[in-house]
Amino acid sequence: MTEAEIEETIEGFVQAARRCWESGFDGVEVWAAYHGIVDQFWTPWSNRRDDQWGGTLENRTRFSREIITRIRKLCGDDFIIGISVSDEPDFEVALQRESLAELIALHDRDQLIDYVSCGTGSYFDFYKLMPTFLYPERLATELSQTLKSAVSHALVTMESHVRTPENAEAVLSADQADLVSIVRGQIADPHLANKAKEGRPEDIRPCLSCNQMCWGRRYRDYWISCLVNPSTGREFEWGGDRFEKTAFPQKVLVVGGGPAGLEAARVAAEQGHKVTLTEASDRLGGQFRLAGMQPRRGQILDLLDWYARQLEQLGVEVRLNTFMEAAEISSFSADLILLATGSYPPDTGFQKAIPHKEQLPGIEDGGFFSAEDVMARRARLGKRVLILDEGGNWKGCGTALKMAEEGHQVVLITPDPLVGKELQRTAADYPLRQKLAQLGVRFILESAITRWTPQGAEILSFLDGSTSFVEADSLVFATPNLAEDTLARELENSGLKFLNIGDSAGPRQAPFVISEARRVALGI
Ligand code: SF4
Repeated sequence: MTEAEIEETIEGFVQAARRCWESGFDGVEVWAAYHGIVDQFWTPWSNRRDDQWGGTLENRTRFSREIITRIRKLCGDDFIIGISVSDEPDFEVALQRESLAELIALHDRDQLIDYVSCGTGSYFDFYKLMPTFLYPERLATELSQTLKSAVSHALVTMESHVRTPENAEAVLSADQADLVSIVRGQIADPHLANKAKEGRPEDIRPCLSCNQMCWGRRYRDYWISCLVNPSTGREFEWGGDRFEKTAFPQKVLVVGGGPAGLEAARVAAEQGHKVTLTEASDRLGGQFRLAGMQPRRGQILDLLDWYARQLEQLGVEVRLNTFMEAAEISSFSADLILLATGSYPPDTGFQKAIPHKEQLPGIEDGGFFSAEDVMARRARLGKRVLILDEGGNWKGCGTALKMAEEGHQVVLITPDPLVGKELQRTAADYPLRQKLAQLGVRFILESAITRWTPQGAEILSFLDGSTSFVEADSLVFATPNLAEDTLARELENSGLKFLNIGDSAGPRQAPFVISEARRVALGI
């Protein structure tokens, strides 16, 4: 950068702060984390200058000190100025904790900053910026603790996978930080702080650390939403995750206790309707519960527990082990029936990538299972397992991870050019591939399975048309499901008022059926 460019950039920061101040904000946080431009000036690896902006600690911090000094002068002593830094211990070229402590101590000594915020990751390792459930919780603890001992004026804030009030309390009570920042937790439940304050943390809808609809949408330059809270981003349209009581309560029957049925029942009851939910199995959750049994995905089970508590509080009558026939539904005399009967995996071995094959040759010889069979422990798997993943998401990859962690030799085959293609936007794909590779999972890309035998599978490469044979004892398919819409078809000409929602209307991923269920229930 030339001197003129440095001056222009400093003024860019200062004028941004001025606009915030003039708009009524109480303060700003100067972005020095993640090896952004401020961090680039700080870090000797990226700052090779030999003028007043590089070399000594004083020189490398001149850029940040100049920004903050000018903001302070312009916006006054009452304006809060924080600075954000991040922990990146896995890349030696990044500033390590002791170096960051030295830098922050310098800013603190001159009382330039009111607080320092500790995150994790950087543009060297993007995946720790918004860590998914593959990472431990309270990820920035070591940095925040180090900085706590380096400052005497500034407060230390910890972020990065804090998520819950319990985590926040653990950090604060251990004196690992003065403040905590919870971002995704408050996207999942915008009333988190009030609920914690009112002593009812069990009512907080838990964030799943999935990144599917927050970062997953932002990554594609959309406004953010949330898997568990579809009102995020629709605050004006959907009342900010608040509900109004109806003047005309109706008798609503929800058939099916998967994510769509749970959300529809909850939202209908929140509005004052009299709701009964029936579920054929002995538990709520449907296939979402199976997903919650994948490694490190227990947060899904927490969400299902939250739904169960909410339904109880709202007076929803939940009938488990209750398989509803069309005649029983008819005699229930509901004003509205919501069918959320879910979906099921096909048993044909059909692959979208080779659509001319209606059925996989050899499938009748046995040893073939669905990902759902594996997660529900219905599959009797051999030692060597071949899994075909057509979705590029958690259904296939999470099942592969589970089988590999249980000691199976796993080969993952996909028509995609990389494993976990759909997880790229959630920043989960690379750490997941690392885990799979470390567990010895072998990847076969851009291929399909053309024949199954008791000895293994014939594989077709889309790239050069060649075929090969992979030895295996069991074959697992993670392919799109089929709608379980038997009831919907039976009720079609019954004259009953019903809506088919969730997977039984069209198999999809959880965020889309939860969002649809919220919209439908708000329309009752
Ligand atoms: S989309 Fe997932 S990670 Fe993001 S806030 Fe919602 S539950 Fe949390």
